[in-house]
Amino acid sequence: MAGLDADLIIVGAGPAGLTAAQYGARANLKVLVIEQMSPGGQILVIDQLENYPGVTEHISGYEFSLALYKQAQSFGASFLTDTVTSIKKADHFTVGLASGKTLTSFAVILATGSTPSLLGVSGEKEFVGKGVSYCATCDGSFFKNKKILVVGGGDAACEEARYLSNLTEKVVLIHRRDSFRAQKTLAERTIKNPKIEVRFNTVLKEIKGSDKVKSVVIENNKTNEIHEEETDAVFIFVGTTPRSSLARALGVELDEGGHIITNQKMETNISGFYAVGDIRADVFRQVVTAAADGAIAAHNASGYIDEAKS
Ligand code: NAP
Repeated sequence: MAGLDADLIIVGAGPAGLTAAQYGARANLKVLVIEQMSPGGQILVIDQLENYPGVTEHISGYEFSLALYKQAQSFGASFLTDTVTSIKKADHFTVGLASGKTLTSFAVILATGSTPSLLGVSGEKEFVGKGVSYCATCDGSFFKNKKILVVGGGDAACEEARYLSNLTEKVVLIHRRDSFRAQKTLAERTIKNPKIEVRFNTVLKEIKGSDKVKSVVIENNKTNEIHEEETDAVFIFVGTTPRSSLARALGVELDEGGHIITNQKMETNISGFYAVGDIRADVFRQVVTAAADGAIAAHNASGYIDEAKS
């Protein structure tokens, strides 16, 4: 199998993919990372990364991603901007690209992460970009001193509500249950924040407006009381959906939510094909765990590639 384009192709350049690239390149593999956007993935929108061990200075998701990218490059990883459209396996892997090219490798690490989930209420799709958003750092500045509603109860909803509370007088945060799913410290900090009004047992039923969002219909699911209130923006953080269609087409085993099932070596049911980061099933999804996945996958891929070469 001489003459393959790379030893290891990594699809996706978030923290998981970039860490895999660094570890792969340091193991002296010929590593190629393919990413359709800028390196960084979902953390590009984080205004402050505050829970990465040992990082105590203020650093944004963008700055952190850039550092990971430069570090991987400094060890010899190559980067290509393109969209992967297919992955096939015979003796080796063949990766198809939107540009029409195909690339070959001994092993592939899939690090394509996830996208924000939609809530699915009336008005949501219609008002995207007109008051409905899934990214506070991207769109928050359009709503300085305006009325902002946040939906969700996980880490993302709590963190983004905090970010938005610095832009306006009051943020209303609604969550469908009577307690947050977010990590305890984050949940407590959110409840104590005087600029965030937390309403538990509250669900969004409809988003209304004309050229932009004007109001929302919300329901208290304990009392069944429904009312309409004015708002300028609705930020939705109700989880994420894994980008696993490439893996599905390859025959990789997924769970019912579409996340990829791996063992502790990040191996999937297809030999030489690894999955890391948010796309994996049953993980605590943090930057630090994504980075750890990347390191583990690259280490194990290195052993696999050595065997495949011999
Ligand atoms: P998440 O942890 O899955 O939380 C999603 C939230 O949305 C849950 O509270 C859920 O309610 C709610 N929800 C889901 N579907 C809903 C619906 N149809 N209607 C109303 N509410 C709905 O998602 P996330 O907050 O986006 O976080 C994703 C992953 O990234 C997590 O693993 C998280 O730990 C990680 N993350 C970490 C950080 C950090 O460490 N700083 C920051 C952001 C994200 P229920 O609670 O009732 O299920």
